[in-house]
Amino acid sequence: MGFLDKIFEYTKHIQDVEESIHANKQDFLEIYERNLQLEKEITERRKELQVTNQRMLSLQHVWDMLNSSRPLSSIFNSIVKTLQGDLGYVHCMVIKIEKTENEKTLRILSQSHTEFASKLEKALGDVETATLVYPETGVFVDSLTEKIIKQTTDYRSSLRPILKCIDEDKFRNLLANPQSRSMISIPLKTQGNDFGWLVVFSTRELAEDAELDFLKTFSQQIELAITIADLFQVVKNQAVTDPLTTLYNRRYFEEFLKSEVTRAERTRQPFTLIGLDLDHLKQINDKYGHYYGDLAIKTVAEAMKKNARSIDVAARIGGEEFNILLPGVDSAGGVIAAERIRTAIESCKLDQIGHVTASIGVATFLEHSDNADELLELVDQAMYKAKRNGRNQVKLAKAMTETSWQEIAIDVFVKILSKHQVHVPAELAQELCEKLSTNNENQKSKAKEMLYNVSDILTQTYNPSHQKGITKEKIKIATKLAKIFNLSEEEINKLRIATTLYDIGNLMLPQELLLKSEPLTDEEKEKIKAHPVIAAREILEPISSVQDIIPIIEAHHENWDGTGYPGKAAGQEIPLSSQIILILDAYFALIEPRSYRKALKPADAINSIKEDAGKKWNNSLVKEFCSLMEKYVETDDNEDIND
Ligand code: GH3
Ligand code: MG
Repeated sequence: MGFLDKIFEYTKHIQDVEESIHANKQDFLEIYERNLQLEKEITERRKELQVTNQRMLSLQHVWDMLNSSRPLSSIFNSIVKTLQGDLGYVHCMVIKIEKTENEKTLRILSQSHTEFASKLEKALGDVETATLVYPETGVFVDSLTEKIIKQTTDYRSSLRPILKCIDEDKFRNLLANPQSRSMISIPLKTQGNDFGWLVVFSTRELAEDAELDFLKTFSQQIELAITIADLFQVVKNQAVTDPLTTLYNRRYFEEFLKSEVTRAERTRQPFTLIGLDLDHLKQINDKYGHYYGDLAIKTVAEAMKKNARSIDVAARIGGEEFNILLPGVDSAGGVIAAERIRTAIESCKLDQIGHVTASIGVATFLEHSDNADELLELVDQAMYKAKRNGRNQVKLAKAMTETSWQEIAIDVFVKILSKHQVHVPAELAQELCEKLSTNNENQKSKAKEMLYNVSDILTQTYNPSHQKGITKEKIKIATKLAKIFNLSEEEINKLRIATTLYDIGNLMLPQELLLKSEPLTDEEKEKIKAHPVIAAREILEPISSVQDIIPIIEAHHENWDGTGYPGKAAGQEIPLSSQIILILDAYFALIEPRSYRKALKPADAINSIKEDAGKKWNNSLVKEFCSLMEKYVETDDNEDIND
């Protein structure tokens, strides 16, 4: 082989080697690319797995909630929160269709806490109570009728008809979220009925099948939650008996009372209501334990059952309160039946506890009142009277008009003190209740003295400089003024009750605030100003016998020129009785010492009141008040003024 041949051979060899290297490089590149591809796929699969995992967790969460017997609203709140937070939707909400006889509307039951939610809240006010328009066409209706999930990128057109009440600018602003690309409407149906939709706003234009499958499963869980809640409500509504005593429960009793009122009105036949409360149950509980307390309750229930006719309805209204309705029975028959029950209870001998007793009130429809609520109140009053008179007895109600103002006021005080609505030490409350409970029937003067006494003691708990006898003085002067201004006897009685009660709201204020010697902060002042309203609304509202006294008390800090509180009422808008209380309250406060000033002499107090004539109180009231007080102070007038 010549030299050239050799060179040629080498060159070829080199070429071969080069070619083989090139070929391998191709292979390597291919492998490299395949690896890259695989890695990408693995990452994607991992992401998918994560999403699936998250979805499974969410489903698990919904399942847990279904088993937790939480209220439906709380389940919805968790659902929208889970969907939005964990699964990355821009916003989620549950919308319900509300049907009345002639129209359909929509209500947002729950929504996630997002920017969309706050904008919607601004535009609609209280979102959960806002009524929205039911759309007759569009994605929402289609998804319901076709029973499938619908998605749209043009969600503006779907939402516009629903949110008709929002003006165009606000609506545009509401939907101005660039992240939100599409809306998915998932129909919710329960037991074949259209319930509404689960609505989600997504960052993707089109959801994949897996996502839609998940949303479908998720919505099925929601449907299940709604069905369970509905069934639970049905079962609850169907329950008419009290589990401990098997007597009827309050709900059934109220329904029965309503129907009985209608029947009695139609037939003009009476029916009698008996109200019964176990005596000293608290002591039984404290001494022997709840088991024996329950035993006492069951014993009373048995005695009621045994002594009731088949048409009578006996019910456990609350813990230890019972009612019996006796159709067709007048008050005389009612008292006999009540007495029979009382004796039956008294004669039972219970294990450990011995004998228990009950106090019973009786009132008759048409005889005492032709209004169901008033009748219940009268029964309650009679029952309280039985308690006051020494318990273990039956009392027949008196019609409202026959009840003296002293009795009404005493009744109110007993209720307030025994229901622990005010901050009074328990022993004091009990002591005062006992004072008020001494037998006072037909002894009006004694009842009055007792009432004044209790009112003074209560006032002293928040105003230590209050002197004994002031309540009596106030009522005397209030009565005189009312007579000068020709108020009717009924109005005068209301004013007398209001005068004993107008500052009761102070018992709800913290002591340290009332007795503070440094100037009050604005917040503290507001708190003190609120007391007439607190008194009227919170303490007196549940007591129906004093409902028409509440407006008098509510206005007793209003000034004649409209600068008072809480309503800034002026002139004739303010009840005269409220003005009388305001002037009396001011006068008696001025003649008492305060931590920040000395007591004023009566003459100076009268002058100070004169200065505010036409401002705080009307001129003629000031004139009459001052001339009355000047005489009163001079002569120490103690004549009987029928207070
Ligand atoms: P009075 O004679 O004035 O009615 O005194 P009282 O102790 O019965 O009345 P009070 O209203 O002060 O207390 C009622 C008590 O009844 C307080 C409450 O714990 C108890 N009670 C309410 N419901 C039940 C119940 O279902 N079982 C038991 N054991 N006690 C109950
Ligand atoms: Mg009791």
